[in-house]
Amino acid sequence: MRSHYCGGINESHIDQDVTLCGWVHRRRDHGGVIFLDLRDRDGIAQVVFNPEAAESFAIAEKVRSEFVIQVSGRVRRRPAGTENNTMVTGQVEVVCHEVSILNAAATPPFPLDEHVDVGEDVRLRYRFIDLRRPEMLKRLRFRSRVTSYMRNFLDSNGFMDVETPILTRATPEGARDYLVPSRTHEGSFFALPQSPQLFKQLLMVSGADRYYQIAKCFRDEDLRADRQPEFTQIDIEASFIDEEGLMGLTETMMRDLFREVMQVDLPEFPRMPYAEAMRRFGSDKPDLRIPLELVDVGELVANVDFKVFAGPARDPKGRVAALRVPKGGELTRKQIDDYTKYVGIYGAKGLAYIKVNELSKGAEGLQSPIVKFLGDEVALAVVERAGAEDGDIVFFGADRATVVNEALGALRVRIGHDMNLLTREWAPLWVVDFPMFEETPDGGLTPIHHPFTAPACTADELAAAPAAALSRAYDMVLNGTELGGGSIRIHDATMQSTVFRTLGIDDEEAQAKFGFLLDALKYGCPPHGGLAFGLDRLIMLMTGASSIRDVIAFPKTQSATCLMTQAPGVVEDKQLKELHIRLRRSALTSAGDAATDGAKPQG
Ligand code: ASP
Repeated sequence: MRSHYCGGINESHIDQDVTLCGWVHRRRDHGGVIFLDLRDRDGIAQVVFNPEAAESFAIAEKVRSEFVIQVSGRVRRRPAGTENNTMVTGQVEVVCHEVSILNAAATPPFPLDEHVDVGEDVRLRYRFIDLRRPEMLKRLRFRSRVTSYMRNFLDSNGFMDVETPILTRATPEGARDYLVPSRTHEGSFFALPQSPQLFKQLLMVSGADRYYQIAKCFRDEDLRADRQPEFTQIDIEASFIDEEGLMGLTETMMRDLFREVMQVDLPEFPRMPYAEAMRRFGSDKPDLRIPLELVDVGELVANVDFKVFAGPARDPKGRVAALRVPKGGELTRKQIDDYTKYVGIYGAKGLAYIKVNELSKGAEGLQSPIVKFLGDEVALAVVERAGAEDGDIVFFGADRATVVNEALGALRVRIGHDMNLLTREWAPLWVVDFPMFEETPDGGLTPIHHPFTAPACTADELAAAPAAALSRAYDMVLNGTELGGGSIRIHDATMQSTVFRTLGIDDEEAQAKFGFLLDALKYGCPPHGGLAFGLDRLIMLMTGASSIRDVIAFPKTQSATCLMTQAPGVVEDKQLKELHIRLRRSALTSAGDAATDGAKPQG
């Protein structure tokens, strides 16, 4: 139906006849001449209708925004002075000699102009129109280039693409499962995969050797800004390989990808142990573009009368840390109050600070509500430890170590952005030497990655001191975002059982839940490992999109619904019966409220 894409018309087509198809982006009537901006996936072309071509002109008069039309005409240079240098097609226009309306369009719910601010709810409700906006389509195409690049890279490195089941059993990655009731097995449920973890490991047992998949994963979590209930991973696994092999290969893939699709040369990826990342940056995904660091001051304040500091300083699970902000002395009371509120989100009960006005005056040169509690000597000592100079401010966190790390870690990033401290555009790194487990609030242990991650010690050592054990896991981090993570896996049945037992999963439960894995480990499982990249987050970072929803064609809202299809929706009573499910009364009421489009359940 067409000879060219609208966005592909340029000076090389002058005097040629072309046929374009697309949507009417804008219509302008100019003293008897009608101009249509015709838009398709590739861009916008200007089409001119002269009154002499009466039939076409009459049609052009009728068309409205978002009508779908087909136009044939001749390309010519735009008259001098009317060129548009901001448009790829801005030097030329198409003089129409034939036009037909392929479909009319109702007035769109919002204009497709990039300058118009439209509420996200409306955009998501009419996603099919929202995606017509050039910047949205551009992101989708970019995403497609990235996946096709990765496929090529992995294919040419001997990886094979294997699909794994969506209807499966729970795969523990630390989130809640999405469950699907079985019709044929009353009372039984499938779980949607939180990741293809176990299947990719089983493929290694099968001898597949190198696997990848662009895999949909499902996690029923309370959503934060960068999470979606269903998301996509570039999932990778390989046999007879160690961490060096896997990190080397995937680092090369990432570096080549950035060069290929963004013309960006990523620097070398430094490796940083988890403990160092937490100590210096309060985070296991430090943003190394920001030149601020946390400094421990616990032993300097352990003996002061000020309980707020001395308490956590003496508590083995506590931490007292300082964050020096060069030139932070300029921060206003209001800004400091805002930062205090901000760290409150992370559980910090306050935000102590010392402004360093003039160090040569000793404690006199410090300005702070806490100096009187710390005493002059200690106040000067912590300021010195933080490396502060005249004009700086030093913030403090004193609490459980987890709270201090989260709060000061987040504050560090926030101030880095607020004060424009970023030293470079891209800062990748590997975080390594993770602990195997972390403590749960009830004193139990939970895996930091997943329970199939190999420890960096023997099974006996692990059983003796699980909390101290390190794992063979690695995370790739870019600009403070975890791009992906993985590990060398347990390939030995005894080790796997030890890990299950450490997690409080007894042999019977392990057999019931993961019997197939324990079996597979007995039948000649090769050493293997892998990792998975979060595709959505990667695309978000590469395109500079402000929300993960902007790089997913049909995303869910923050409350895990689809505003366009109204999913999740209520279902017919008959379907529920087939699934052997009866709803509780409270569910009936709220389901009826939430999804007004669905059929109402009866009784
Ligand atoms: N399955 C892991 C995850 O989804 C990644 C991996 O260990 O390969 O985070």
